[in-house]
Amino acid sequence: MTSLRYTVNLDAADRHLAEVTLRFSPPGDTADVTMPAWCPGSYLIRDYARFVRDLRAANEAGAALPVHKTDKSTWRIETGGAREVSVTYTLYGHDLTVRTNHVDGTHAFLHGPATFLYPAALRGAPVEVAIRAPAGWTLATGMRWEESLPATVTAANIDELCDQPIHAGHGAVTRQLAVPAKVPTRLVIWGDRSPGGVFTETRLAEDLGAIVDDHIARMGGDIPFPHYTFVLMLSHEAYGGLEHRASSINLYHPHFAASRKAYEGLLELLSHELFHAWNGKRIAPKPLLDFDYSREAYTPCLWVMEGLTSHYDRFALRTSGRVTAKSFLDKVLDDWARLMATPGRAKQSLEQSSFDAWIKLYKPDESNVNTTVSYYLKGGLAMFALDLQIRRRTEGARTLDDVLRLLWTRYGARGEAHPDDLQPVFEEATGLSLGEVFDRVIRGTDDPDLAEELRHVGLELRTSADPAQVADGASAVWLGATVSGNKLTGVLDGGPAQAAGLSPGDELIAIDGFRTAGEAEIRNLAGARKAGDEVAVSVFRRHRLVTTPLVLAAAPPTRYEIAGIADAGPAAARYQAWLGEPHPGAAVLATITTTARWV
Ligand SMILES: [Zn+2]
Repeated sequence: MTSLRYTVNLDAADRHLAEVTLRFSPPGDTADVTMPAWCPGSYLIRDYARFVRDLRAANEAGAALPVHKTDKSTWRIETGGAREVSVTYTLYGHDLTVRTNHVDGTHAFLHGPATFLYPAALRGAPVEVAIRAPAGWTLATGMRWEESLPATVTAANIDELCDQPIHAGHGAVTRQLAVPAKVPTRLVIWGDRSPGGVFTETRLAEDLGAIVDDHIARMGGDIPFPHYTFVLMLSHEAYGGLEHRASSINLYHPHFAASRKAYEGLLELLSHELFHAWNGKRIAPKPLLDFDYSREAYTPCLWVMEGLTSHYDRFALRTSGRVTAKSFLDKVLDDWARLMATPGRAKQSLEQSSFDAWIKLYKPDESNVNTTVSYYLKGGLAMFALDLQIRRRTEGARTLDDVLRLLWTRYGARGEAHPDDLQPVFEEATGLSLGEVFDRVIRGTDDPDLAEELRHVGLELRTSADPAQVADGASAVWLGATVSGNKLTGVLDGGPAQAAGLSPGDELIAIDGFRTAGEAEIRNLAGARKAGDEVAVSVFRRHRLVTTPLVLAAAPPTRYEIAGIADAGPAAARYQAWLGEPHPGAAVLATITTTARWV
């Protein structure tokens, strides 16, 4: 089969430009070349063709060939019988995310789908990419272990090319650390980090090694990649990660060493993206293994990819000994508090949230809080509770790990897609009938059974009004709105603000004639009143002053706690088998007060 030969030239990186040339043998008198519109792992039509400039085509003698566009992402080349066609184009890359290109004088992060247009008829052709970069730069990509540049990397086909991002960076701001693990693993860090702190980059590499080995052990020792590359870009601008089959791209703030919480957050991110090398990249439903880059790939199963992964990213921190049981429960409780602050969880199931990711989770608007729930957030908690349920009902003989391993051996390891309905697989792996929990929590809109399952491991989940707020003399009342500054960003369906006729976008300027210049003042003014009190709220709406009565209502609980149950009996042994630490007695293990978001 003909091959696709790319060259990537980064000489103009300081202007955020990369020049790409593709050479190939055209299949006929015309050849269509196309840019992907989206990428697996990020469910939004991004139209990467918008970053392409100055596209031109030539034959093997260098004579220009006519080109015209046939749709937003596709160019048609009149080949004129050429044996070989070259297509040259410039990419503008100045968007520092994990799924867009970022090119500057210090590095180039090239995301495959945003970089390589390809002949539509030759998606399966073998690929080679010659990379030329400024002096002093080194290379990191899952396609090749060596770091030197210039370099030529190869991929079996366009899908493999798109799945292996390329990072090249100058040695002054890019360092490479060996991660001590059962498989060759490296951590490539670009960007300055703030000085000081006990959590050094060396410590990070060591902790990461323990997490890599923990994931491998959980998957029964199966390592589906010859080596693995973590790319970590440090920047104030964003947060995120994107998984690939032998690498991941991660974006985190430069102060990860400032606190244990920040550091553990980084470990959790890296753990998450690595876990996807098994679950998500290989254990996956058909629409995400066999898809069209030009249009959406719909699946009800993103909760499997992201729910299992969100659970295991933090559980692995505990089972690898990187965090305490208390810290693990803190992370779970933090998510629980966020889920409880999401009224949309009563409207959308995990399956619906997955299917509509393209137009909901990835295109959030002001109404989402009322109508949607994140399949990451609820999915992770659902898997946490299900793991406990399986342990309880099988008396510790089975765990969620058994489900994971069956998904791996039956589907992921064989390169086969899993079915949409996974209830039979979960049941086979555990020997339990799970229709009830699937009906309620996966296909339905019930909350995961956190409180009940925690009780069986000797823990109590408590919810209350914030006692500090009550002690200050404030009553727990609310308007039922989310704010940013004093602007309403969301209005709860059926809540006091909606009943008063307030809308997202309204600028709340006064309550009972007193200025409200932000969230704290809104809380102070409302908190001095009781549920059922009527206040006058004044807002600017489209630059016009509107004053309206509003009846305050009792706010839902904002404080969540996980505490040990004194004299837990046999539950204490279950706790220890689960988290590897003695039961804590009556100690409070985790506390969260959600002051943010709702007023
Ligand atoms: Zn994920």
